[in-house]
Amino acid sequence: MEKIKLGISTCLLGENVRYDGGHKLDRFLTNTLGGYVEYVPVCPEVECGLPIPRESMHLEGNPDSPRLVTTHTKQDMTDRMVQWANRRVVELEKEDLCGFIFKSDSPSSGMERIKVHNENGIPVKKGVGVFARIFMDRFPLLPAEDEGHLHDLKLRENFIERIFTLKRWREVLTKKEGRGTLVEFHTRHKLLILSHSPKYYQMMGKLVAKAKEIPIKELYQQYQAILMEALQLKTSPKKNANVLQHMMGYFREQLSADEKRELLKVIDLYRKEIIPLIVPITLINHYVRKYEQPYLKKQVYLNPHPLELQLRNHV
Ligand code: SF4
Repeated sequence: MEKIKLGISTCLLGENVRYDGGHKLDRFLTNTLGGYVEYVPVCPEVECGLPIPRESMHLEGNPDSPRLVTTHTKQDMTDRMVQWANRRVVELEKEDLCGFIFKSDSPSSGMERIKVHNENGIPVKKGVGVFARIFMDRFPLLPAEDEGHLHDLKLRENFIERIFTLKRWREVLTKKEGRGTLVEFHTRHKLLILSHSPKYYQMMGKLVAKAKEIPIKELYQQYQAILMEALQLKTSPKKNANVLQHMMGYFREQLSADEKRELLKVIDLYRKEIIPLIVPITLINHYVRKYEQPYLKKQVYLNPHPLELQLRNHV
């Protein structure tokens, strides 16, 4: 797979673009995830023409449509930022991004819970950074996360799983459109979808089953939208344990009573959050290879992202 293109707030890459001339280098993003992605840096404040260093800014007014104002001299930068952002998102459309990582707490780049000050100077954490809002309105289905959330291992896994899945989907889009291609993609992703939501698993199964009745463009659009929605829902030990047990059913004939007991025990220990997901997954992967189980062999769920990212190694 070629590298995944991700937009990112420039300061997270260690560039000295912040108002105080500093940066917010995030080593997980540069050193670890950086091995698999190609970053497209975006610094709204510098790219809209503000200097480094510069006066700090914050949001003021109505949390739904706040103004971007300098903290001390009270210059209103909103129009300048909005005009630039509207042009920038058009450029970014050509980049084929599979996601965006925003800097948290920034009045320009933050994607949620940004402080908005009322007329008395009291902040409420209900705002969205001016650029982040315009970006997310333009690309509502694109995975977006802030770097603060990516320190939470569950949210990290969820985001990375979504960008890898979107990349695989984009590869499907480079092929000639066809129902067979979509069905093949869906078949490979069934258990991954099930681990996020049995409801979406059923809904997507129904959509694919009536694929012949839907014009192909519409089918692709609907499928992509539902896929991204489904993967946004969090997995849980309970949901994963159900998928693992479902997979176990494929080895009913081959496994001895003792092997079945062992696998069930490992799944149960995972469900109780005593051992990490990677343990039952490794055992099942072993049986898939040993017995060459054709359906499971194709399941992305067993290998959704590089092992080196260690996303399934935590309890
Ligand atoms: S938070 Fe956004 S605007 Fe601020 S320095 Fe980082 S990239 Fe630039």
